[in-house]
Amino acid sequence: MENNTKSPVRSYALTRYLIEGLAGRLQFPVYETNSKDEVIIVPGEMFCRVPGCSNSTNAMVTSDTLQKHLAEWHNLVSEASIIARSTKEEKSARMKWFEQIPLVEPVEEKQEGAKDGMRKALI
Ligand SMILES: [Zn+2]
Repeated sequence: MENNTKSPVRSYALTRYLIEGLAGRLQFPVYETNSKDEVIIVPGEMFCRVPGCSNSTNAMVTSDTLQKHLAEWHNLVSEASIIARSTKEEKSARMKWFEQIPLVEPVEEKQEGAKDGMRKALI
């Protein structure tokens, strides 16, 4: 059963993240930091969470790009990627994280075309 549900859940969580993020509707939580004061990026994150940053609605290709962006634009050091060593439980927790980012109130619905295109690209 787990194998049957895993993939659609992941795809739903990330699709929602990307679509709502591009539309500027995600209310990103503030960055947490580790004991070394490094910003903790959730593997798979593509949007900058620094309030007011123009890249909060521009998806970056990879979390590595996001790490570079944080360093160059915000002078923030981020924790090295943990994706390679994450367990199944961590992966599923990560998908929950993406899924549970709250949405802001809808303002306008002008980006339908872009959203559909992105949805197709993801599926
Ligand atoms: Zn930024």
